[in-house]
Amino acid sequence: MNSLLEACHYPSIELTLEMTESMRILIVEDEPRMLELLRQGLYEHGFTVMTAADGETGLTMATAHELDALVLDIGLPRLDGCSLLRALRASGRRTPVLMLTARDTEDEIIHGLDGGADDYLTKPFSFPELVARLQSITRPHREETDSAIRAGDVVVDPVRRMAWRKGESLNLTRLELLLLAGLARQAGRCVSRQELIASVWGAEHAVGPGALDVLVNSLRSKLDTPGGRKRIGTVRGRGYIFRGAAGAGEKA
Ligand code: CA
Repeated sequence: MNSLLEACHYPSIELTLEMTESMRILIVEDEPRMLELLRQGLYEHGFTVMTAADGETGLTMATAHELDALVLDIGLPRLDGCSLLRALRASGRRTPVLMLTARDTEDEIIHGLDGGADDYLTKPFSFPELVARLQSITRPHREETDSAIRAGDVVVDPVRRMAWRKGESLNLTRLELLLLAGLARQAGRCVSRQELIASVWGAEHAVGPGALDVLVNSLRSKLDTPGGRKRIGTVRGRGYIFRGAAGAGEKA
């Protein structure tokens, strides 16, 4: 809280106004002081700000309004942040979500990102950092030109956050998509566990040894078709390999 308070008195950081002036942000946070700081700070940076102090109200507002981003606390009365996020994604809304976590706990973060959050910040955080993260998750699709990675009949586009198999869209979570991109980029080669963890969670995050295997299995279940060839092979003790080249004998 202190570092947030102090950061609010920083001289205004460099921002491109056209990026922020029309952005509509909903903040869902139950601590009144934190909510007011966030509301005031984002307003001063040119954002259009709406607020909700509990999860139920937050979900209602997030589904009723066209938002550019949602700043979402995890610990909330009436409906917690993770449940709100799941309900929002289940309703088909792709609104970018920045989660606020009380502690840097791996479980909370994995849970949040797996539930469809785009990024997270651990309290206390600085205001410039919050604004930078918001700009990053709401960045318009300018870099979209051709970010797609093609490996056999699978295409993954990490920038547009979409993936296809034989031209059909695959419904992947953000983490599954990052994993698929990390594998498909080096199709036909064994990609080490460390390298995959870095491409999914970032090099600076420590995740438990089981997290990658769990994620690989959930990706496999969406990627492979019954009776078809397994696209992700395990290289024991080393990593995983994506068999992307359109294989003869592919049945699926
Ligand atoms: Ca809270």
